[in-house]
Amino acid sequence: MAIVQPQPATEDGRRRLSLSNPVDRHHVGDLEVSTKAEVDAAVERARKAQAEWAARPVAERARILRGAIDVLVRRRDEIVEQVRAETGKPKAEALTIEVVPACDFVNFWCKRAPKDLRDEKRRLHGYLLPMKKLRIKYQPLGVVGVITPWNAPFVLSLNPVVQALLAGNSVVLKPSEVTPRSGELAVKVLHEAGVPTDVLQCVHGDGETGAALVDGAVDKISFTGSVQTGRAIAAACAKKLTPYTLELGGKDAMIVCDDADLERAASGAAYLSMFNSGQVCLSVERIYVVESVADEFIRLLEEKVSALRYGSEDGDVGPLFFDRQVDVVSGHLEDAKNKGAKVLVGGSRAAGDGLFFQPTVVVDVTHDMQLMTEETFGPIATVMRVRDEDEAVRLANDSQYGLGGSVFTKDAAKAERIGGQLKTGSVVHNDAAVIYGVPEAPFGGRKDSGVGQVNGLDSLRGFTHAQPILLTRGGSSNESVWYPYTDKTIRNLEGLIQHGFGNKFIRKLLS
Ligand code: NAD
Repeated sequence: MAIVQPQPATEDGRRRLSLSNPVDRHHVGDLEVSTKAEVDAAVERARKAQAEWAARPVAERARILRGAIDVLVRRRDEIVEQVRAETGKPKAEALTIEVVPACDFVNFWCKRAPKDLRDEKRRLHGYLLPMKKLRIKYQPLGVVGVITPWNAPFVLSLNPVVQALLAGNSVVLKPSEVTPRSGELAVKVLHEAGVPTDVLQCVHGDGETGAALVDGAVDKISFTGSVQTGRAIAAACAKKLTPYTLELGGKDAMIVCDDADLERAASGAAYLSMFNSGQVCLSVERIYVVESVADEFIRLLEEKVSALRYGSEDGDVGPLFFDRQVDVVSGHLEDAKNKGAKVLVGGSRAAGDGLFFQPTVVVDVTHDMQLMTEETFGPIATVMRVRDEDEAVRLANDSQYGLGGSVFTKDAAKAERIGGQLKTGSVVHNDAAVIYGVPEAPFGGRKDSGVGQVNGLDSLRGFTHAQPILLTRGGSSNESVWYPYTDKTIRNLEGLIQHGFGNKFIRKLLS
């Protein structure tokens, strides 16, 4: 359903979008856009339903959501078919990118949430300890608006929604207008597992609907999408001081060191630049290869990319999912060629009606080209030779984006050393992109690639307010600093500073 055309409005004035398939462009249906009033009504219903949901123990919410795994397993063919109808991605990718991580995320979060969200006792330090006790409560925020993109439409909707629900919130999801039914299917799966219908709702439409949700009475926005939309959402949230997380685009660099296993590096470069037709926020979009191994690496990459099958639903590389992407990918390539880049494999849109783009290898690129500076989101492996690893790090960091990065070397310690120099949200050794599938890892972008995190402990707890409750111990208190101020007040405070913090031994006890 990836080609989206506005249609005449319905009789009651509702906007409609016509959707067609990216593989052969057959018309697959129309989408009726939710009105602002409908979005507001959904948020209001969600608010009413939230109190009862939040009153259930986390373990019970987890028990209900865990039931979604059985639904995912049972309905996996339907999920695969729905995602493929909207995106045309190969079945293997619908399974690896959507269904497997969906099962794993639900399984992981449901096990972790009861432990990670339970009330916590934190031992206080030093001089506070005899007087106070600290408790932390992870309170739900209320209603969370989740807005998602089209490139992994099922799992990118399911993952934040499951976390928000486990934390005791109700959720209104607005999936991409390019892939609306895949997002909606994530909601249906969770309803079937037992999540009450008003606790999780789906509204449909494009940016206007998303903006209506952001402007609505929501308590947090969890957004995954482009930098441009992320900025608009941040500005809208600023007006009401609504908290948000933004998971945005990337231009991830892969560094191929002189001691890399070149077979693995070339296979990795081909796969990690092109799976999901290169439409992954963590796709390898720039490859920096050290000069001494560049010839052999490029030869292997050329060989591997030339062997990829494309042009039908059953190939290795599927179509672009969205017609606008064809112009972006072609434009970046044209710009690069005009500035001296050389195309070794592929290089143009494939013949036929579908949105297929040839798997492509480009060399002789520079940082003056859009292909090296802007998110391309297409099946292109772009290779630049570098003198050494220091130059690779410098160039990798020369980007407005900072989502992920990867280092290919046989030496794990070296990967760690180089990785630590990358100004990116995450780094992977001898692999890439897979980090999103590691829910323990705090995943989020730096620079233009985002604000906040969608995985890891901070992500789950990010759907709560961590409320400290400070209890005062009986018998001892800090009343000595209360009114009235006397000479004794000053003496006590001076004594604490001079004999406490001024004494190295006692300072240690106070820390
Ligand atoms: P997009 O920003 O065009 O749209 C994303 C969502 O936002 C859609 O649901 C859209 O309808 C909605 N939207 C558009 N304008 C809006 C507005 N003004 N207010 C509220 N909502 C609005 O992005 P896209 O083209 O659907 O997705 C591709 C982008 O997503 C790429 O840049 C990709 O890198 C990024 N992405 C990031 C991650 C990550 O985790 N960092 C993951 C996947 C995709």
